[in-house]
Amino acid sequence: MNSIDAQGGHPRYGNYIGGHQVAARENESFVSINPTTGREWGTFAQSTAADVDDAVLAASAALKGPWGRLSPSARGRLLIAWGEKIAEHALPIATLETEQNGKLLAEMHAQAKIVKDWLFYFGGLADKVEGSVIPLERPSVLNYTLREPLGVISVIVPWNSPTLITIMSMAPALAAGNTIVLKPSEITSASAFELARLAEAAGIPAGVINVVTGARESGDALVTHPGVAKIFFTGSEPAGRSIAAKAGSRLAGCTLELGGKSANIVFADARLDQAEAGVLAGIFAAAGQTCIAGSRAYVHRSIYEPFVERLVARARQIRLGNPLLAETQMGPVATSAQLAKDITMVGQAREDGAELLCGGTRATVPGYEDGLFFEPTIFGGTTRAHRIMNEEVFGPVLCVTPFDDDEEVLAEANGTRFGLAAGMWTCSLQRAHSFAKRLEAGTVWINMYRALAFNSPFGGYKASGVGRVNGAQAIEQYLQTKSVWCELGNEVQDPFVLRT
Ligand code: NAD
Repeated sequence: MNSIDAQGGHPRYGNYIGGHQVAARENESFVSINPTTGREWGTFAQSTAADVDDAVLAASAALKGPWGRLSPSARGRLLIAWGEKIAEHALPIATLETEQNGKLLAEMHAQAKIVKDWLFYFGGLADKVEGSVIPLERPSVLNYTLREPLGVISVIVPWNSPTLITIMSMAPALAAGNTIVLKPSEITSASAFELARLAEAAGIPAGVINVVTGARESGDALVTHPGVAKIFFTGSEPAGRSIAAKAGSRLAGCTLELGGKSANIVFADARLDQAEAGVLAGIFAAAGQTCIAGSRAYVHRSIYEPFVERLVARARQIRLGNPLLAETQMGPVATSAQLAKDITMVGQAREDGAELLCGGTRATVPGYEDGLFFEPTIFGGTTRAHRIMNEEVFGPVLCVTPFDDDEEVLAEANGTRFGLAAGMWTCSLQRAHSFAKRLEAGTVWINMYRALAFNSPFGGYKASGVGRVNGAQAIEQYLQTKSVWCELGNEVQDPFVLRT
């Protein structure tokens, strides 16, 4: 445990800067809540610009010092060693996360176990970043490129998959030779310290990974700090827009992984058992708290009624409960603000005329009366005129809409400002691949949903983001290219003529 002391039996954390646990300079703190019990979980530092400044200085020193001096192969080996350590400690990491965000332990554990694949992949890629020699017109000149890290990267992550998103963001940045200041979500800050501690245990030098906690204001200090070369942000669309504007105003780059309103289309020729499981998994597997939630299901009218009946019957059987227990299928939503949002958006959908087919209210789970549970909710007959079809709920709320033909459903699926993911269920190869091309989404799943891998690019079209994680191209976002020119001959140039 990384807590610097304990208060009332709860862990209390400071920041992690330059390899040390340190208290916030202004000694401000905040408390995180266990959403299953409604009780306080732990206390964290509310970091200010001064704390962020300390962390950026530590990251800059590591960049110029021990990390910058390592060969790419040595850097890569350290990332691989870190991945092994995280896998060994996957269960305690997952438990910290489940206690803080209410997602199933089975899911958080699976995520903590697989992040090693990202560190192995990008660790292996570290010494495969190559410059090139440019064949210029002028044979006397040697021109080549150097691929260099950008510097200090701010990584700001949300609460829904803290370890997975942190490693997805940091692995390519570290492989490219950058150093990091990480701000975890104020809802799930604890696992970040465990990751930083394990990095140090794996031999990654102090200062390469620094952790500052806090809410939006702490994140803001990371976005505006002049020593930060690039911001890697995963979170909501409004926060992403604000961060991009601030980063842009000081010409810092940013990668944005934002929200979605993903369509999941069931054609009449689908294997309906598979489709049913896929639509349910798309929205209820993590209580809808996933960026790729398939929150808009489009079902062909010829199968609409029986299919929706099956969905509703299955949704009513979902076992709500303590997410630490193996029998639980859906835990609470993560925060009281998220619960309030679910309630508000469900209310708006009803006002707008959507038909509530099941759920729609806060649920009470015996033994967890203060838990933030929300019933699996399905609306039928939803259209684009309903507000809920245009905004991300980030809760267990599915909208189902019938359609008659392919062109109609394509237009509906694309009729959103988001473009993170889309799913479709069909036995027609022709239709599947034609839709895959025409759907405006960064990920398209055919006869499957909710899958991702370290080596397959992931990111948003339209308002769902800028840039990509995963896959070899992710490392490019953390490199800058220097072009080096060297005259090898003895010719004296005309000083007034530009030579090409
Ligand atoms: P959020 O935007 O409220 O917060 C995300 C992180 O940013 C937190 O650490 C928060 O403290 C910080 N933050 C918030 N506003 C900020 C600002 N103006 N400046 C700097 N930092 C700021 O999001 P959340 O509620 O934690 O997470 C849910 C959202 O994340 C959903 O919209 C979801 O779709 C999205 N998400 C996207 C992906 C993806 O890969 N595309 C993955 C997971 C979650």
